[in-house]
Amino acid sequence: MFALRVLAMMAERKNWKEHNGTVIDTVKGFDVIECEPCGFKHIIPIPSSEELEEIYRDEYYSIEKPLYLERYREDLDWWNLTYSERYDKFEEILTPDRRRILDIGSGPGFFLHHGKKRGWDGLGIEPSKQAEAHSRELGLKIVDEFLSEDIVEGLGQFDVVHMSEVLEHIREPSGIVELSRRLLHPGGLLCIVVPNDYNPFQVALREACSFDPWWVAPPHHINYFSFDSLSRLLVKNGFDIVCHTTTFPIDMFLLMGDNYVGNDRLGRECHKKRMNFEQNLARAEKIELKIELYSALANLGLGREIQIIASKG
Ligand SMILES: [Zn+2]
Repeated sequence: MFALRVLAMMAERKNWKEHNGTVIDTVKGFDVIECEPCGFKHIIPIPSSEELEEIYRDEYYSIEKPLYLERYREDLDWWNLTYSERYDKFEEILTPDRRRILDIGSGPGFFLHHGKKRGWDGLGIEPSKQAEAHSRELGLKIVDEFLSEDIVEGLGQFDVVHMSEVLEHIREPSGIVELSRRLLHPGGLLCIVVPNDYNPFQVALREACSFDPWWVAPPHHINYFSFDSLSRLLVKNGFDIVCHTTTFPIDMFLLMGDNYVGNDRLGRECHKKRMNFEQNLARAEKIELKIELYSALANLGLGREIQIIASKG
């Protein structure tokens, strides 16, 4: 994802603390620990900022292949359904005069563009040149830098800070949550989306079908959150949890025997099925049913991603 590069180079926090906890997996020479001081799972050793910078610099080219944008465009109606629900929620919580949003790791800009069409004033942070150029074509305002203490002051204040598929890549997630808090007006919303790894379906796959933990992806994915551990991180940083939900529990296909891990063709087929499921519900005007279903899944710790909206307390 584009977002993964955005904060890899974020300034390191001054008060670095020891990471320790039970080792639950070892993948590619990295241990995944249930870190006690941090309160969530992450890999150790945590790659240095320099190592991450090197990794992401090398990957600029592979990530920016046209296929990524091509598929994004192909699936755009489906993406817009998800985005629409997200903006609906913001608009339900905030008064109509509060429509200023910052998207950290805004990628090609489709999320901000959706908001723009419904009257939101958006700003994206996205250092990828290609993504930034695409965003500008959509008429969006983009800061093409990495988010750091240095640029926070110049960005202004927002009613919503949105961060999708970013926090799992960050060396120090608490730091970025703190920065987000500073960027928000009082009562402003922070919306975070991260993978829901070590979820009960994945655990079942390991136990029943001897799957390896394919979701552990060092050095790119450093942190592995649950609904509880992400909520704790936000509360610790002065946020109140407003609501949570999830996305389609795509790992269900694996439990049903469609092993798409490492199989792009089958992965795409499964992806199309979940798009059909959601788009057919939308066509049948059953969005409310879908919202309740996914909220119930989230309450069970299920679903492929964790989405939490929290307000600046
Ligand atoms: Zn830790």
